Amino acid sequence: MKGVKGFQKGHKHSEETKKKISAANNRQVKFNCDYCGKESADKLSSFNKKKRHFCCRSCYTEYRKHKLEFQEHNAYKGVRKVGESKQVYHRKYYKNNPINIARLKAARYQREKNAEGSHTEKEWQLVKERHNNKCAMCKEDKFLTKDHIIPLSKGGSDYIENIQPLCRNCNSKKHDKILGTPTLTRG
Ligand SMILES: [Zn+2]
Ligand SMILES: [Zn+2]
Repeated sequence: MKGVKGFQKGHKHSEETKKKISAANNRQVKFNCDYCGKESADKLSSFNKKKRHFCCRSCYTEYRKHKLEFQEHNAYKGVRKVGESKQVYHRKYYKNNPINIARLKAARYQREKNAEGSHTEKEWQLVKERHNNKCAMCKEDKFLTKDHIIPLSKGGSDYIENIQPLCRNCNSKKHDKILGTPTLTRG
């Protein structure tokens, strides 16, 4: 091939080389199961990816249940220290996990962008006034956040009819459940 530079373009491995490569990729590594100790084997490529090695799925399940420190579980997100407020904990988490937070924010932005409708700041003020500036669930006089009655993630709109004022506490308790009744939707 004229003008082609580099190794990849137009290059073909010989049959022999292909065999060598696939043999290397498929080479079995022998190991002892980290839970029951039974000897087992795995492909080199997948062996290298894993931190621990098990002969079967149930050994992994048992290991995770009984032996794995809970800090190492995938669901582990850290533990609040005694006396540390949630606010401080979250601030730290925010700082230490900017990527997770950025991903969450981006997903939310995307949902809001795709949601049907929109509302103005004035409409939001009116809704708060209609609720006497109190949380729609606990009726307490707290700082109010916008809550989508039918969550955007479940196809709710961003029209003001689908928004109710909730305090932070109730908002996080509600999460993505549908609580409250949206006022009549537009025709
Ligand atoms: Zn085992
Ligand atoms: Zn509340």
